[in-house]
Amino acid sequence: MSLTVRFWGVRGSVPSPGPQTAAVGGNTSCVELRLGDETIVLDAGTGLRGLGERLVAAGPVALSVLFSHVHWDHIQGFPFFPALFKSTTELSLYGRPDEGSLESALRQQMTWPNFPVQLDAVPARLRYRSFEEGRPFALGSAMVRAARLNHPNGVVAYRIEHEGRAVVYATDTEHYADEVDRSLISLAEGADLLIYDAQYTPEEYAGVIGGSRVGWGHSTWVEGVRIARAAGVGSLVLFHHDPSHDDAAIGAIERAAQTVLPGTVAAREGLEIHLAGRAQNKAA
Ligand SMILES: [Zn+2]
Ligand SMILES: [Zn+2]
Repeated sequence: MSLTVRFWGVRGSVPSPGPQTAAVGGNTSCVELRLGDETIVLDAGTGLRGLGERLVAAGPVALSVLFSHVHWDHIQGFPFFPALFKSTTELSLYGRPDEGSLESALRQQMTWPNFPVQLDAVPARLRYRSFEEGRPFALGSAMVRAARLNHPNGVVAYRIEHEGRAVVYATDTEHYADEVDRSLISLAEGADLLIYDAQYTPEEYAGVIGGSRVGWGHSTWVEGVRIARAAGVGSLVLFHHDPSHDDAAIGAIERAAQTVLPGTVAAREGLEIHLAGRAQNKAA
């Protein structure tokens, strides 16, 4: 058994298709985790459409979606998820525990006159789920833990553990000026993979290029490296690329990160990372 991570949407803020971004991809946040026969999806940005086409072609769909938050770039693929329109589909939708915003946000974006099919009319069976922040919960054969990070309107990051492997999904978060984010360090401690918001270059973030992005809720590859080192993470994946960054710009960011933390990669659509399951000590 193994854990496979596949990236279907790696872009932040808004889709950015075109020849300048074709190699990295222009779809917004959507990551698939395959754990044996089970599937967990992280966020429902526009990358969800392509994932859905593949899933529907393979048969009935039953999976869980973990939403980091409900900003457009993390939910806009949902109305176009082909599995929504199949009566055999069963979806468990997990959102932040502190508000009823997930269901209302998904409902509102499928409301006339903005969208022709209302959420209540889709044939798929939807269950809305929540969790207690910081308290692990089971999702099939995986264990999941969530932590609140730093982002306008709020966000949660997830740690998914399966067969001794751990993947942490920490998008849409801004580092603090004077200290590392302790809740993220705790969540990412010893993880095999950290998927981290690296939307801006350090120069963009500081306002050396364009205006300052301080307070916009995003981070940089430099901060990703800092967190990965502090948490003892196996590999860092740079994620939530700025829509203004073309393939060359993201390649330059990736190379810069690799010079200080070898093995770091920039997420691209279609990138798959396989983590072989580790034997777990079940002795008493
Ligand atoms: Zn976002
Ligand atoms: Zn956001």
